[in-house]
Amino acid sequence: MNHPLPHREVTLPAYYQHRVLFLDPAEIYARISVQPFARHQKPEHVGLKVMFPKRSDRICSCGCGTPLGPRRSRWASDDCAAFAADIYAIIYGQRDTIKYYLKHYNGYKCKCGRVRKMKVDHIIPVKHGGGGCWLSNYQFLCHACHVEKTKVDFGWKGK
Ligand SMILES: [Zn+2]
Ligand SMILES: [Zn+2]
Repeated sequence: MNHPLPHREVTLPAYYQHRVLFLDPAEIYARISVQPFARHQKPEHVGLKVMFPKRSDRICSCGCGTPLGPRRSRWASDDCAAFAADIYAIIYGQRDTIKYYLKHYNGYKCKCGRVRKMKVDHIIPVKHGGGGCWLSNYQFLCHACHVEKTKVDFGWKGK
């Protein structure tokens, strides 16, 4: 469920956002301990310092490979810091950031075609271990489809 999103043409204002959207999160997930049954993660398990440890060779912690400038201690640029912060926000479970990337990737619409009252849905629900997931486990659902899916997810209705 934490696989990278397949590449497609998207328009995002900043280059670092393209890096976020098409990141292969495997390396980051290998460093952190996600609580899959929690909707929001604890910073001590998935914090920036755990996700992007400081390096002794003075190379940026974000993974871009750029050497740190004289007044830099972790990130080579503000974009590197913003890249890391968005990845943290996604894995933490911060709605607005997830919504922002989903909108650019999938468009703001439900699979049924409705475009109003969209909810951010965990495809594999948190109840079944989908917490702390990557963008690939999220989708937009309209209110009606979300109610239907929740019934199935929670076993209130047969599949
Ligand atoms: Zn960097
Ligand atoms: Zn729908």
